[in-house]
Amino acid sequence: MEEVTGAQLIAESLKAQKVEYMFGIVGVPVIEVAMAAQAAGIKYVGMRNEQAACYAASATGYLTGRPGACLVVSGPGLIHALGGMANANMNCWPVVVIGGSSDRNQETAGAFQEFPQVEACRLYSKFSARPSSLEAIPAVIEKAVRTSLYGRPGACYVDIAGDMVNAKVDRSKVRVVSCCPAPPVSLADHGAITETISVLKAAKRPLVIIGKGAAYGRAEIVLREFVEMSGLPFLPTPMGKGVLPDDHPNCVAAARSRALLQADVVLLLGARLNWILHFGLPPRFDPDVKVIQVDLCAEEMGNNVRPAVALLGDIIAIVTQLLTCVRQDGWKYPSDTEWWNSLKDKIAANAKISKALALQSTLPMNYYTVFHHVSQLLPHDCIIVSEGANTMDIGRTMLNNYLPRHRLDAGTFGTMGVGLGFAIAAAAVERSENKGRRVVCVEGDSAFGFSGMEVETMCRYNLPVVIIVVNNNGIYSGVDPETWKEMAKMGDLTSIAPPVTLLPEARYDEIMTAFGGRGFLVRTVEELCNALQLSLTDWERPSLLNVLIDPSSDRKQQEFPWLTRSNL
Ligand code: ADP
Ligand code: MG
Repeated sequence: MEEVTGAQLIAESLKAQKVEYMFGIVGVPVIEVAMAAQAAGIKYVGMRNEQAACYAASATGYLTGRPGACLVVSGPGLIHALGGMANANMNCWPVVVIGGSSDRNQETAGAFQEFPQVEACRLYSKFSARPSSLEAIPAVIEKAVRTSLYGRPGACYVDIAGDMVNAKVDRSKVRVVSCCPAPPVSLADHGAITETISVLKAAKRPLVIIGKGAAYGRAEIVLREFVEMSGLPFLPTPMGKGVLPDDHPNCVAAARSRALLQADVVLLLGARLNWILHFGLPPRFDPDVKVIQVDLCAEEMGNNVRPAVALLGDIIAIVTQLLTCVRQDGWKYPSDTEWWNSLKDKIAANAKISKALALQSTLPMNYYTVFHHVSQLLPHDCIIVSEGANTMDIGRTMLNNYLPRHRLDAGTFGTMGVGLGFAIAAAAVERSENKGRRVVCVEGDSAFGFSGMEVETMCRYNLPVVIIVVNNNGIYSGVDPETWKEMAKMGDLTSIAPPVTLLPEARYDEIMTAFGGRGFLVRTVEELCNALQLSLTDWERPSLLNVLIDPSSDRKQQEFPWLTRSNL
């Protein structure tokens, strides 16, 4: 008779479901689970905070199409991971969280770190359960993995009672559950496809919007063919960037506001009409815009705007259906329309403004100068992780993506603190896929702080992430060191320091050197370029560039205030 422990069953079941990565923090009662995971051939990355561990696990889900696992201890460990679960669910990314919990015979007795974990996770996940016995573990893990992937992807939770981790059962009594198949694919209704083609043909100012659903759905090949064959202008959402390259001739990202406002037909591919797309409503959209909505989630159809056509199903399948029609009758949107000319004019005008800001040679540098020079040096295939308010918003317009799923950012939930976890996940995936891609993590100084200790994780595993902290001494903006000193003389800083301020010129670079990575303090363009070049040639260890910019540097003037919604 061969005996097997609960820990082994969890690990082997995850491996059987093709879960290849586990991120977590061990402690009683889950240490053995992490050891069993390694023994089963799962890569285990020990992190410094469960939030970052869960962000990392969900990012591997997005990057590889298989959920990452996040392993946490009971009570506070699990509670810290809730932020990561919420973020994954909002982003529609698959992740499976495994949480240890109190021993069953101590429950309700005030056990160490006792907490109603299965109930707590329900709000943050698609599925939350505890196996009732060791024999039930493989089926519950299969269900968690399957649920994380099927339908709209998201977070799932499996609870494991502390006493079940080391309990043993006869292996022959445990039914093996094989790997769940890839999600079933559905096509759109044929009538809706025909209707879509006629709406597109009648459009004067059509626009394709490519969202992170298209990126997650791996629709890049068919989408490129569709865009090129139909001649339509397209606009990526923040994480839709790179599904088609940002420098594609049909990309109108640099005329985003005009494209959104004046389009009369929008083909929405795997993006929700939420705040990221200004709800699809005036003042940012034409009130009469016809939306053709493509999504695999039926409940998403009609949110904020009633679609002219709703295409329910998988993006690859649906775009293939559309492509077949376009091919058959040889239709193409002309390239010499007033609409194309108007978009191209706007692209040129916007490029001029950004360039003028980028080439300013005053010190301290502004955002545009930093991103202009960074963009010149970044490799074509690098994975860009980005967060922070201005850093992320301006960086998105200045740093191009050329490949799908090569941009990870604060996402649908606008979560700050995701960057280092995402970068660790991307670097771990890159290490095993070995495609020679750099992971570059462009952080605001505030955003960096949320998960700054994960620098130790990067150093421990020699993950050669390049972190660029665009440091403006605060949240949105800060003050310079002299002003700070003056303020400190005036009285208690807790009463007078603007709540947005952080310590001016904080030496984030020294956090990296403390753990053996490379740290650079950067004030000038020359220092920036030198430091970035050195960092990009070092594949042995991570680097951090602490780029001190003008604390009052801001975005160029915007036409619309943020987060407007007309009918509120
Ligand atoms: P963005 O942030 O780019 O606007 P969202 O996360 O809001 O994107 O929207 C992504 C949408 O894509 C979700 O509504 C999700 O249901 C959908 N989706 C995800 N994968 C697929 C797929 N393979 N086919 C169709 N729709 C998908
Ligand atoms: Mg800042």
